Amino acid sequence: MKTIGLIGGMSYTSTVTYYELLNSLTNTHFGDLTTPKIILNSLNFSDIEKLQHQNDWENLGSTLNKEAIKLQKAGAEILALCTNTMHKVADQMMENVSIPFVHIAEATAKIISDQRYKKPALLATKFTMEEDFYILKLSKYGLEPIIPPQASRDILHSVIYDELCLNIKTEESTEKFLQITQEVRNIGADSVILGCTEVGMLLNNENVELPVFDTVELHCKEILNQAL
Ligand code: GLU
Repeated sequence: MKTIGLIGGMSYTSTVTYYELLNSLTNTHFGDLTTPKIILNSLNFSDIEKLQHQNDWENLGSTLNKEAIKLQKAGAEILALCTNTMHKVADQMMENVSIPFVHIAEATAKIISDQRYKKPALLATKFTMEEDFYILKLSKYGLEPIIPPQASRDILHSVIYDELCLNIKTEESTEKFLQITQEVRNIGADSVILGCTEVGMLLNNENVELPVFDTVELHCKEILNQAL
């Protein structure tokens, strides 16, 4: 099995889930104590978040590129980035990196289109919902993503950064997110993408009426497939 390199810490609350899921999925796959070799490169999210909101994506791209090269030198044989938003700079991150990269949006889109859903609502940070880097990947698989209206995008973005990335879960925010799932349903969504790695802290297949696709879960499954 290939050694998995993870760039995480964006935020730590979801990187914990990656670590747990990759291990438990591997246990289940082999039916014994087998666990994957993982090299985790966990970054300081405060630095990252500042650069995001200053719109300094060039700097973010070169930062991630250095971290990816470090992982390759350390012996990682495949690479994954544990956040949807930072895939905005995936191409720059992979410059001079030769190990394969497992893209979170491709892993997600593949499963949704295999299951014949067409119009998934994308619940994510504003960067992911409002710019085209993520939507274009989904469209490549024939999907027609539904983006929530402005007021709901603002709520999603602020709850992600001010609560979920700090490991704060409240009933009030769960309720707000659930209302957004109703709203996107009313405007034609046939499913929901948890397009930010922390949204699974509040939403899941039990509390949402539409089918839910959690990017962390689908990403981990694809990382494992490619590592095996
Ligand atoms: N983890 C989040 C995502 O999946 C947001 C934090 C970040 O900006 O990286 O988009």
